[in-house]
Amino acid sequence: MTNPNHPGLGTQSIWAGEDEYLLQGATQVPVVHSVSFGYGDIDQWLRVALGQEPGHIYSRNTNPTVHAFEEKVRILEGAEAATSAATGMGIISSTLFTFLSPGDRVVSVKDTYGGANVIFIEFLPRFQIEVTLCDTTNHEQIEAEVAKGCKVLYLESPTNPTVKVADLARLAKAGHEVGAIVIVDSTFATPINQTPLQLGADLVLHSATKFLGGHADALGGVICGSKELVEQIYHYREINGATLHPMAAYLLLRGMKTLQLRVQRQNENAMQIARFLENHAGVAQVLYPGLASHVNHDIAKRQMRGFGGVLSFMLKENSFDAVRRFLPHLRYAHAAANLGAVETIVGPPATTSHVECTREEREAMGIPESLIRYSTGIEDVEDLIADLGQALAQVS
Ligand SMILES: *Cc1c(COP(=O)(O)O)cnc(C)c1O
Repeated sequence: MTNPNHPGLGTQSIWAGEDEYLLQGATQVPVVHSVSFGYGDIDQWLRVALGQEPGHIYSRNTNPTVHAFEEKVRILEGAEAATSAATGMGIISSTLFTFLSPGDRVVSVKDTYGGANVIFIEFLPRFQIEVTLCDTTNHEQIEAEVAKGCKVLYLESPTNPTVKVADLARLAKAGHEVGAIVIVDSTFATPINQTPLQLGADLVLHSATKFLGGHADALGGVICGSKELVEQIYHYREINGATLHPMAAYLLLRGMKTLQLRVQRQNENAMQIARFLENHAGVAQVLYPGLASHVNHDIAKRQMRGFGGVLSFMLKENSFDAVRRFLPHLRYAHAAANLGAVETIVGPPATTSHVECTREEREAMGIPESLIRYSTGIEDVEDLIADLGQALAQVS
């Protein structure tokens, strides 16, 4: 970590990707709101337009502030190239529509983020793209489906809201045996906790809205991988127009300066809270990859540097009514749909990630009515534990 040629993730979160854009000695990257970039020399304009010279032409395609953000994520993920979109879903949909054509097949899992799941079950089939969704932790089933052939293997780890962990090295190998492009949504992990490209994935993506930005005040999405793949995604995204706004890029860049500090604190808070809840009589079960009781704890230990800031737990009384009574007692938690911010955020899947499913469908997916997703902020963990303790006491 102290080798100057290989600065650590904390150093990179602060310094990476910015040099080129520090205007006239400014120490911070400016927000370049300009829609277009003018050229006195028409031949230079032509060279930039043809990609023979670096530069910017039009902000739907590229923009200096947006590029600085992409560079920072690219360097943290150890990738050759990166491109961004207006939201996490913007980068997910751009990526799927870049690589898939009628007749192609995708293999993924049942527990992907709700929006990605809607693309799989509602939109891709409309284009005669076959989608097979496997049980999330059944690696044998995923390998068997991949072996039948597929263009894309789409994974997410850890998953939302039950924080299951996929063996990324094992599944990337299975994907490459049939020539598939292996994509990993690493939003819950961040590059501080895991680097899927080093485990063999071809592309790693983030909803930057969550941990990367970290302050719940800007939407964004980003994807990293080889130049060859990322350029194709960039080309689709510049045409579909789901461009990241320069102001959002600035907020994400600023948030990322504290990425390592925040994520380390969230890892620690989540671990202590998971242990506290696991020993509490009012709690039926705690799901957190850092607990020895978690189904995928061994995989998580192997491939993650930290277990992340999100955990889920079920109240002893398995009813939505219990959740309804419990949540208002929490003093230090927003009841809201997002996660990964400096504040603690709680939400039941019934109102957030799985709002479109029926109660029976959620139960079938292993999401009981009393499940609560808890995204730990960076507050003092003693306060969060005391807060959970008093709220549990009121409902049990
Ligand atoms: C929130 C989220 C997304 C979607 O990101 P948006 O920025 O809301 O579009 C995708 N994947 C995961 C794991 C998420 O948590």
